[in-house]
Amino acid sequence: MFGLMQDWPLLCHRIIDHAATQHAARPVISRSVEGPIHSTTYAEVRTRALKLAQRLDRDGIKPGDRVATMAWNTWRHLEAWYGILGIGAIYHTVNPRLFPDQIAWIVNHAEDRVMMTDLTFLPLLESLADRLPTIERYVVLTDAAHMPATPLKNAVPYEEWIAETDGDFAWKQFDENTAAGMCYTSGTTGNPKGVLYSHRSNVLHAFMASLPDSKGISSRDVVLPVVPLFHANCWSLAFSTPLTGAAMIMPGAKLDGPSVYELMDRYKVTFTAGVPPVWMMLLDHMEKNGLKLPHLKRIVIGGSASPRAMTQTFQDKYGVEVIHAWGMTEMSPLGSLCSMKPEYASLSGDARLDVQVKQGHPPFGVEMKITDDNGKRLPWDGKTFGRLKVRGPAVARRYFKDDTEILDDEGFFDTGDVATMDPQGYMQVTDRSKDVIKSGGEWISSIDLENLAVAHPKVAEAAVIGVQHSKWGERPLLIVVLKKGQTAAKDEILGFMQGKIAKWWLPDDVAFVDEIPHTATGKIQKTALRDRFKDYRLPSAAA
Ligand code: ADP
Repeated sequence: MFGLMQDWPLLCHRIIDHAATQHAARPVISRSVEGPIHSTTYAEVRTRALKLAQRLDRDGIKPGDRVATMAWNTWRHLEAWYGILGIGAIYHTVNPRLFPDQIAWIVNHAEDRVMMTDLTFLPLLESLADRLPTIERYVVLTDAAHMPATPLKNAVPYEEWIAETDGDFAWKQFDENTAAGMCYTSGTTGNPKGVLYSHRSNVLHAFMASLPDSKGISSRDVVLPVVPLFHANCWSLAFSTPLTGAAMIMPGAKLDGPSVYELMDRYKVTFTAGVPPVWMMLLDHMEKNGLKLPHLKRIVIGGSASPRAMTQTFQDKYGVEVIHAWGMTEMSPLGSLCSMKPEYASLSGDARLDVQVKQGHPPFGVEMKITDDNGKRLPWDGKTFGRLKVRGPAVARRYFKDDTEILDDEGFFDTGDVATMDPQGYMQVTDRSKDVIKSGGEWISSIDLENLAVAHPKVAEAAVIGVQHSKWGERPLLIVVLKKGQTAAKDEILGFMQGKIAKWWLPDDVAFVDEIPHTATGKIQKTALRDRFKDYRLPSAAA
């Protein structure tokens, strides 16, 4: 027997409808790419998104077509998302920080028909355009006055393009499982993979993201998404902010410390989210100038592990609650957030920080398990680590144009992370599964060793990789970049680590290098390191 409740498909554009009805005048303030601050409201964002939808429809964009955006966080980019998905087409966010070859590959794989972009990226796109044959038109997110001459195909300024419609248009209606958005993983190994979000997954994920133990935002909040719309579905902020009716402050192209600080201070931002390097710049600016942010209540830090010292500084010095978060493109992207359950709520000082370095617990809608290589579940004791697998309505089940089965027989997706789960259900990432060092059947966390090595005062950056070993299979090699002007012997670094980790975790050797290679998204490129050191002979290896 079915229930007798209404069939109300979970469509993303219902979110902007709600915001425009219930929070019509709530401000959406942006630092425009052209320079000045721009102010609008949810009601106006919806009106203009409808015009954009009408224009795409008139231009022959059909349900299921991909429309690329390569743009900063501004009101126009937000309008583009809702306008595109509101006719059943798919917003495809392209990360401008990827290497040009990757961008070309992604746009071709997605077969994007339109590219909506900011002035900033015109030179990049002009240099790539002859390799992007599927793009029929470039829409530049600006007005006629700021539109430069460009050879890009059918290039038009956004404002004039949408002005050619009368706005007499209604959203299209369709099944909630219809695709809404698309984002490629950066593909640290192999080609990037397209993750295809549905309306239903985005709406459910926005609910999960807004819960009090998740981001906990409300209509009384002022939200500044530092995380770009092109990074992993903007951590849901393009949906959860209007869903809750919070005001939205968009930083545009300027993510440096002074610019972000200026917006936070001026618009009394209460909530923000982004990756550690941005917060490093903000903290640096605040420390140097003796500044405070009395209105800022909560900050979500994720994308990579939030350094303990950063969490501590925000909390102790500035009175801002840090919520460490973990997720990935395939999870829409939120997987866990480190808010305090009652079991931990009374902790303070170091004991509290010990919990906050964990990536946290999943909201309703994300199930987790950790397993060994054979898929056997491992205990939640906070010590045993295994492959972290997840299941839920906002987790990918397939990649775009790829038939490969990516779920196990219980329907779980292997995140590629290695983690512990503690008895309270808190997850802590200990490594990426391809980076973990398998020594004599046991696993050694490369991240733990790296964190320990960089705590040495002479070490600027460290990476640990597994190197072939005749007896143990693999043993850890520590690769170190020393701080400018410093010299150190291997034993000095190893001596520092000794006693702080299990004896058999101690790296077998240290290699000093001038530079450690990074991916376009700033992660250590271990594949390149493994390649460089593939013939490395450890002193401990049997002759
Ligand atoms: P990509 O895989 O394309 O680089 P994602 O944004 O999807 O981009 O990256 C997801 C990965 O980032 C996770 O699988 C995890 O390894 C890492 N990550 C994300 N958040 C954290 C965090 N808080 N702590 C440690 N690692 C994290």
